[in-house]
Amino acid sequence: MSRTFNFCAGPAALPQSVMLKAQQELLDWKGLGVSVMEVSHRSSEYQELANKAESDLRALMGIGEQHAVLFMHGGATHQFSNIPMGLLNSDVEAEYITNGIWSDKAADEASRFGRVNKINAICTDENNLRSLIEQDCWERSSSPVYTHYTPNETIEGLRFEQAVSSKGPLVADMSSCILSENIDVNDFDFIYAGAQKNIGPAGMTLVIVKHSLIEQMNFEHLPRVLNYQIQSKQGSMLNTPPTFAWYLASLVFEWLIEQGGVVKMEELAIEKSKMLYDFIDRDEFYHNPVAIKNRSRMNIPFIIQDSNLNPVFIQQATEAGLVGLKGHRSVGGMRASLYNSMPIEGVSALIDFMQQFKQKYG
Ligand SMILES: *Cc1c(COP(=O)(O)O)cnc(C)c1O
Repeated sequence: MSRTFNFCAGPAALPQSVMLKAQQELLDWKGLGVSVMEVSHRSSEYQELANKAESDLRALMGIGEQHAVLFMHGGATHQFSNIPMGLLNSDVEAEYITNGIWSDKAADEASRFGRVNKINAICTDENNLRSLIEQDCWERSSSPVYTHYTPNETIEGLRFEQAVSSKGPLVADMSSCILSENIDVNDFDFIYAGAQKNIGPAGMTLVIVKHSLIEQMNFEHLPRVLNYQIQSKQGSMLNTPPTFAWYLASLVFEWLIEQGGVVKMEELAIEKSKMLYDFIDRDEFYHNPVAIKNRSRMNIPFIIQDSNLNPVFIQQATEAGLVGLKGHRSVGGMRASLYNSMPIEGVSALIDFMQQFKQKYG
């Protein structure tokens, strides 16, 4: 069987060498004669894995002692409610910067728990392209209990170049950009990311949160499993964690370190996305609807100007071994997600296919 190049936005492709390693040790992990799926999370072998995953991630992202690292259940969507439950109530206001579907959903979920100032940061510019509204034009809250934003909007293909300013704690949903660019973790009080884009399989969410912020959270009347303080004290093992997802994440972190870490991933992300954008921009056949300065490096939506050709493109691409290119149902067209595990050869193969398709139908 030959592997295809998988451009799916999520759950996304994982590095092939990681999958092969997981396959090799699937039935016999660490010589125990059982799978990693079949051992106790309290066993010394699993504890060693969990600790190594955390220390590798800390090294990769430069996470210091100020921040706790949690491997939690549920998706990013779970954090949409978990964060406001701990920090928000009807006496205080949180700011939500919205620039697409995910940040919008986060804001709507939060508004169920307290006051939300939803700040729209997306517009259509003079060239009819999606773009981000400059921070100076936002109607900010005077003393937000926190500011939430989404550095990379996965569906719209929009990226903030810098962390947004904030008067209170800064919370970021990094589901689709974590580990793809060098950030200063100290700029953030709370980072979260669903695993299924750049970390591992679905079912786990990474949380990186300042100890000082979790001290301020109030979970007194809420389930203990949601309480970040308790999860932090118990090493994310108040109950059974998603052990297989955590294991695969640990293999991905090892792979990232071997590859040269986040600095290398950022270089590659710039190179891969530039290859594709340059090709799309070459003429009118293909079109990317995002202003150049706000273009995502991870998720690249594009359409063919003659919209009847979009489904034909997707079908023929699939037949050619380029899968997962269908755009999100809300925006249509195509989307190529170029996460860390997408090799340059995959992007080249996509561009070759796009070139041939254009010659045939253009
Ligand atoms: C995929 C995605 C989500 C949703 O993740 P789930 O794990 O399905 O809840 C949220 N935010 C962003 C930015 C995403 O890309």
